[in-house]
Amino acid sequence: MTVKLVVVPIAIVSLLMLEYKFPFFAYQNSLRSRITNNFELGIVNSIASSLFAIAIARFIPLDRSAPGIFTTISSPVIAGILAFLVLDLYMYCWHRLMHIVPLAWRFHRVHHTDRTMNVSTAYRFHAIEIISSSMPKLALIWWLGIASNWVLGYELVFTLIVALHHSNLRLPAAIDRLLAFVILTPNYHRIHHSQIVAETNSNYSSVLSWWDRLFGTYRSRLDVENIQLGVSDEDRELNIWQSIALPILPSVDRGTER
Ligand SMILES: [Zn+2]
Repeated sequence: MTVKLVVVPIAIVSLLMLEYKFPFFAYQNSLRSRITNNFELGIVNSIASSLFAIAIARFIPLDRSAPGIFTTISSPVIAGILAFLVLDLYMYCWHRLMHIVPLAWRFHRVHHTDRTMNVSTAYRFHAIEIISSSMPKLALIWWLGIASNWVLGYELVFTLIVALHHSNLRLPAAIDRLLAFVILTPNYHRIHHSQIVAETNSNYSSVLSWWDRLFGTYRSRLDVENIQLGVSDEDRELNIWQSIALPILPSVDRGTER
């Protein structure tokens, strides 16, 4: 946890400077207000998640023994690799579910309404989505008996890669393409934030890109610089209150997989 508190802020500030120095999209008006809004949502989510964690620790006896197949694996290296794969596959499934289920899309849509992308987009989520994603994940971790150090290790890598692939950093195209065989890169994820529904409903992976290739949801595009980011039916710059209220407002389900 201490490592995360040191590494993540350094990485975020570094990425903010890098995307400013080497931008992919040449932005634009009112970027500052959008960044502020996204980071404010991130703070709200941190508070909500912390309260949720306290409630979980108070009411659910997580220290009771679980079936825990991971506790039978003697090699810590193998256990660590398997834990990483399981947690990343969970995130793929969760993300895909967010696009398939109309009610879930209402909450996930908040993330996709950003009409620009930068490091702060990684923090633009609705608190309900953040909390509800952690409930099945905690149950899975408990049921499989995944050690907390592997969970913390995955969470650290996840946070860093999610910040990277939402950034407006222009990586050299060849390097972006090469990295994308293994991990999520900015160009890879920009396609997921396209206003074109077929592109929105692709590239769901979070850390490892293999899941999209494995489950047939991988999509590539050469002219990434022509992508219109956001959702086509929402052209407002939402403030924090509008973002929080967005799921309960009359909406559409254009993000649903077809
Ligand atoms: Zn999405």
